[in-house]
Amino acid sequence: MSFNDKLKQRLQTLQQQQLYRTRRLIDSAQDTVLMSNGKSLINFCSNDYLGLANHPDMKQAFKNAVDQYGVGSGASQLISGHQAPHHQLEEELADFLDCEKTLLFSTGYMANLGVVSALTERRDEVFEDKLNHASLIDAALLSRAELSRYTHCDGESLKTQLTRSTAKNKFIVSDGVFSMDGDKANISELSLLAKQHDAVLMIDDAHGIGVLGQTGKGIIEELNLSIGDDLPVLVGTFGKAFGSFGAFVAGSDALIENLINFSRSYIYTTAIPAAVAEATRTSLKLIRQGNKKRQRLQQNIKQFRQGCVERVLPLSDEPGYGQYSAIQPLIIGEAGQAVSLSNALKKAGFLINAIRPPTVPQNTSRLRITFSANHTEEQIEQLLDALSQHYVSSH
Ligand code: PMP
Repeated sequence: MSFNDKLKQRLQTLQQQQLYRTRRLIDSAQDTVLMSNGKSLINFCSNDYLGLANHPDMKQAFKNAVDQYGVGSGASQLISGHQAPHHQLEEELADFLDCEKTLLFSTGYMANLGVVSALTERRDEVFEDKLNHASLIDAALLSRAELSRYTHCDGESLKTQLTRSTAKNKFIVSDGVFSMDGDKANISELSLLAKQHDAVLMIDDAHGIGVLGQTGKGIIEELNLSIGDDLPVLVGTFGKAFGSFGAFVAGSDALIENLINFSRSYIYTTAIPAAVAEATRTSLKLIRQGNKKRQRLQQNIKQFRQGCVERVLPLSDEPGYGQYSAIQPLIIGEAGQAVSLSNALKKAGFLINAIRPPTVPQNTSRLRITFSANHTEEQIEQLLDALSQHYVSSH
């Protein structure tokens, strides 16, 4: 069989399993309403939780920075790409998170790969929650350390693995807010287990930062934990609540200097454009002053959850403590059924993608419904009505 025939065969198999992925062309800016193929769709699947991706202040900051710094950053950070906006953003983030230092990465995916492989060696062991984001799992696989996966949010399962481990150095790695489920790791428990077992804790709070906590510091603020002793390594991303692009790692001076010297996905890649860093500095300001937006987001989520109760639609769990995350999945089960529901909703004017294996475990295909501070009450009522009509008919 030719190479091309093999490729086609693989795709056919995916199609038969209802797992074939396609891209939808969007013709408009990111917002709660998107244009696609001339049709307007209310967007309930974006990670732009605070509605900053198309915010006028962000756009202005970006334009001004392009005038001053141009478009490309020219080189990697260690060569000549580390410009004033990158540096200022790092300092402002460290001030915001009350930690010694932060370091910008080009994406969250690269931050996770770069941190885990820079900090671990052969004979080390990385303990990961089974539902961690793919980038964290890939990070451990790429490193030379052993990977062990503990049962989702189960401290006992982690403790058993830690107790059994004979590794030289141990790393516990978890999402803060789980990207496909919207639930939260018990970081206080993880932090305690890390201390008891002489392990290092790393949290990726891509979906919590900006959304959770009074001032948007994310899950650490909700739990009153600090970067350092409680949590030595925090990763955050800019592509979600920040409404821009890129990522950062926060921690001690020694951690950041280690990453600058050992993290291959930091060293061997072009720096993000300075204009992106400038726009992100503006989003950091908006996040710091953004309590109204966060409250509005919480109201939207509560309206949705209340509406689900009234319409007998299944809900994800309560947050356990503090605020809801912006991710409120509707678990369907079978991939084909999730795709049919997503298609029916598209016809009704809503964009909500079906999330299927391998992104989520077998038989847990779902609609990953996400909320923005910019959604209106009316849009959420419309969604609830459409869901109750189409979810019921798909079951
Ligand atoms: N971590 C988590 C928990 C994520 O959900 C994502 C992206 N969906 C990433 C990391 C990757 O971030 P980025 O998109 O900046 O690569």
